[in-house]
Amino acid sequence: MKQSKTLIPTMREVPADADVKSHQLLLRAGFIRQNASGVYTYLPLGKKMLRKVEDIVREEMDDAGAVELLMPALQQAELWQESGRWQTYGPELMRLKDRHSREFALGATHEEVITALVRDEVKSYKRLPLTLYQIQTKFRDEKRPRFGLLRGREFIMKDAYSFHSSQESLDEVYDRLFEAYSNIFQRCGLNFRAVIADSGAMGGKDTHEFMVLSEIGEDTIAYSDTSSYAANIEMAPVVTVYEKSNDEPKPLEKVETPDSKTIESVAAFLNVPAEQCVKTLVFKVDEELVIVLARGDHEINDIKLKNYLDAGTVEMATEQEAARIFGATFGSLGPVGVPADVKIIADQAVQSLTNIVCGANEDGWHYVNANIARDFNISEFADLRFILEGDPSPDGKGTIQFAKGIEVGHIFKLGTRYSEAMNAVYLDENGRTQPMIMGCYGIGVSRIVAAIAEQFNDEKGFVWPATLTPFDVHLIPVNVKDEAQVNAANVLYDTLRQSGFSVLMDDRAERAGVKFTDSDLIGLPVRVTVGKKAAEGIVEIKVRKTGDVIESSVENVINVIHDLQGTI
Ligand code: ATP
Ligand code: MG
Repeated sequence: MKQSKTLIPTMREVPADADVKSHQLLLRAGFIRQNASGVYTYLPLGKKMLRKVEDIVREEMDDAGAVELLMPALQQAELWQESGRWQTYGPELMRLKDRHSREFALGATHEEVITALVRDEVKSYKRLPLTLYQIQTKFRDEKRPRFGLLRGREFIMKDAYSFHSSQESLDEVYDRLFEAYSNIFQRCGLNFRAVIADSGAMGGKDTHEFMVLSEIGEDTIAYSDTSSYAANIEMAPVVTVYEKSNDEPKPLEKVETPDSKTIESVAAFLNVPAEQCVKTLVFKVDEELVIVLARGDHEINDIKLKNYLDAGTVEMATEQEAARIFGATFGSLGPVGVPADVKIIADQAVQSLTNIVCGANEDGWHYVNANIARDFNISEFADLRFILEGDPSPDGKGTIQFAKGIEVGHIFKLGTRYSEAMNAVYLDENGRTQPMIMGCYGIGVSRIVAAIAEQFNDEKGFVWPATLTPFDVHLIPVNVKDEAQVNAANVLYDTLRQSGFSVLMDDRAERAGVKFTDSDLIGLPVRVTVGKKAAEGIVEIKVRKTGDVIESSVENVINVIHDLQGTI
């Protein structure tokens, strides 16, 4: 590819609205341009990277026995109504009407479309298992599109769906795709970890997220410092055993706590540890207000709460809603004197507390020495808090540490959630009708490009690994008015390509400084500079990663680059 004939609009300045390295560099090195919030054009270099990632994904999916198809992005509302998700998916689903006022969605995911397809086309156990996948544009009206390609509103996903007549068959395909995913992320050069994403009813083995370890990750991974245990913090169970204190219950006392609205300020004011305090939170659980208590130094995990209560939606109540129960505002709420018909549940850590400090439901007042059963009742105790660093690992081995991760893939055993709702059934060996058992498997293809970009760069620009780069070689005739340089560059352009290297040639009539700065920014693994010594048949080879420079005769360039493979 000749640079004069393509579109690589590089920028010197760091774009003001790009907060992370990958986003900044993808813009600056001319890989992408933003059209609208979370919506991007992939310029030629960006498209190359996308294609490379897609190729890896495709190869590994095909190897794992999955078959590619392509489903529409435009999906009829009726399908989503059948599955029930038209109502529950919420504002992330982009909805529109056609000229006849029929409702559609732009595909955020394709469980409905594929389930309808397989329901109509597959009738017998003999045709199962079947694993289908596509690489396609998805639309999600994300609340906070950010970090460029990492969280877009229009992005590219590989999504696969498997259909089975038995749980064992699902398990087998799940394991095979787990392997395929590991291969994909490995081949993309990513530092990743597969983490348990659900420790719910099915034993914690039924959904995994693949996380690229990165400071800018939006997810927190809780992992054991001594075993292979790793889970999304959203799901990691707390297995801490709390010792009940031996303190004698003291009489309940109401104390004035002026200007103390947080646990820290109350604890400091009363000179007690935060662990002695109880936080009182109010959640709206499917429209019902529920009081949830946590120890002062703990945070309630709303996903655990949602799972525990088997609720459709869980959200924090507003201050006004809370005031309906308590007659006081946030910061002074507490469980003492709450009407008996209001449900109070608590994290299990609360159970072992004696002589608790809690809000007195009167602004500026707290209780000290409140005790469970004597002063207030808790209907249930459960594991509701976020795990913390230093907690024991849920597998019983070691201690929990945290790392930040970017979720690049997600595999999930769906069971019969969609097949039952949408009547996707088959006839088994005995002629009986059974719902198909399903799995689904997603990979953020465009997000991977950003994750790679985030991992491979330095202060000058990208440093693409030789295994995954838009082009293998950046060929730079320094002065395109110099005939010897142009001739040598043209010879190299042809011979490199004949030897199987992809080449980007900077044939622009730009100053040397501009070309080199752009070249560092674009970050191809090898640069071949054709400069003053071209007349003598000598060129310079520079390794982007190390900065090492090797002089070579034009004839020997291919050999030198071959020798560099594996080290760059
Ligand atoms: P997240 O928690 O990051 O929103 P998700 O759980 O909504 O992800 P899935 O529905 O499991 O994601 O989608 C499969 C994959 O698609 C994810 O693992 C991720 O790599 C990618 N993905 C999801 N949302 C986006 C997005 N807005 N932009 C880019 N990639 C995305
Ligand atoms: Mg999401």
